[in-house]
Amino acid sequence: MFNRILVANRGEIALRVIRACHDLGIEAVAVYSEADRGAPWLDFADQAVCIGPAVSAQSYLNIPRIIATAEKTGAQAIHPGYGFLSENSKFAEQCRDSGIEFIGPPVGAMDRLGNKDKSKTVARAAKVPTVPGSDGLVETEEQAKKFANMVGYPVLVKASAGGGGRGMRVARDDASLATGLSAARAEAEAAFKDGSVFLEKYLDRPRHVEVQLIGDQHGNVIHLFERDCSLQRRHQKLVEESPSPNLPDSVRQEMCAAAVRLAKEAGYYNAGTCEFLVDQQNNYYFIEVNARVQVEHPVTELVTGVDVIREQIRVAAGEKLRYEQKDVQQRGHAIEVRINAEDPAHDFRPSAGTVKTWRPPGGPGVRIDSHVCAGYRVPPNYDSMVAKLLVHQPTRAEAFAVMRRCLREFVVEGIHTTIPILKTIFDNEDFIAGNVDTTYIERVMMPPK
Ligand code: ADP
Repeated sequence: MFNRILVANRGEIALRVIRACHDLGIEAVAVYSEADRGAPWLDFADQAVCIGPAVSAQSYLNIPRIIATAEKTGAQAIHPGYGFLSENSKFAEQCRDSGIEFIGPPVGAMDRLGNKDKSKTVARAAKVPTVPGSDGLVETEEQAKKFANMVGYPVLVKASAGGGGRGMRVARDDASLATGLSAARAEAEAAFKDGSVFLEKYLDRPRHVEVQLIGDQHGNVIHLFERDCSLQRRHQKLVEESPSPNLPDSVRQEMCAAAVRLAKEAGYYNAGTCEFLVDQQNNYYFIEVNARVQVEHPVTELVTGVDVIREQIRVAAGEKLRYEQKDVQQRGHAIEVRINAEDPAHDFRPSAGTVKTWRPPGGPGVRIDSHVCAGYRVPPNYDSMVAKLLVHQPTRAEAFAVMRRCLREFVVEGIHTTIPILKTIFDNEDFIAGNVDTTYIERVMMPPK
């Protein structure tokens, strides 16, 4: 086992990883940008090293600086968290070439699954259903039109390097396809330096259901069941829960088995997520693999009792998985909400500033993953999430009741947060009945003005 790990991230996930290291008796080295100097989570680490200015490209994305810091501090492994360098296969390769273990999948699997069109090829090889579409990149408008007319409008133009809901455009006819193509390309080129796109049938009001996977370096891969992340705004998840409501058990079992097949086909190990869309007839279609730990991993931890981060560290050190598939069960119901420093009254614009009051809720079956405390200044430079609030209860109805109570208890002053919107969501009859899809928020609750 490692005795020192460098955590190449910030905020709540940095704290989450630092804690997992300590739970395993491992020292944690934190790195930070100048914007995060003095941030509260750094106090939890055994040492903290400044790696550059606020701009991520020069700090949290600065590969040579991070590897040099690991070498200097004697860290034997790097945990990348999510975002930043977590899905960068060149970073993983350079870590391993420097004799530092990258806590994540093998480089080959990252490359095979790293972009959406390639990962669909792997899915098809593993006999996992994919959304009908161009099955490869589209180069010209003519080609795009041909595919669109073949699968039928509406279609979705998708950037193969896309992420975080960026690089996607819905097209409903030939004219909007032309504009959608150039818009998706331009957005992806700017955000990911890769403007390649492909087409998919735009599914009608699907649900988003994803399967958590964990594998070791000895060929064992298991699933930790599913999470439902259908409540989204602008393709960004707001609420996640497990089990997925109203999903027939046979479909759940099939999807979980499909995800494991795909991981084996790709030669995958460590933690990962296989994302699917489920249509109204409960047909499921693979959309992408997230080759890292996700924001919503605690939902799975609550229902299965498996500590995903500790397992990631153990398998990265070469240990065998401590669970067989039959050992893993879904117990009770867990829900997570993402609390962001955003102003819902002003189109969710980021709300940086100093937190004056921070009074989180508590009680049995309540978990808060957050790096924030009173006096903390939320910097404007990074992701706006300030806390994940989770509840775990025997039934979904109880989980909703406790979540409502927690949202009432949660007091944050000094910055705007998404708590008011979350309160409305948990009073929504359709959501209570489990009848929502990925378009629900914008279609019903908050139509764009
Ligand atoms: P990203 O990597 O940017 O998160 P995904 O491919 O995971 O993009 O898709 C994000 C969301 O976009 C999905 O959860 C779903 O809401 C929507 N979406 C993606 N593909 C389709 C599709 N073919 N039809 C309908 N909605 C889709």
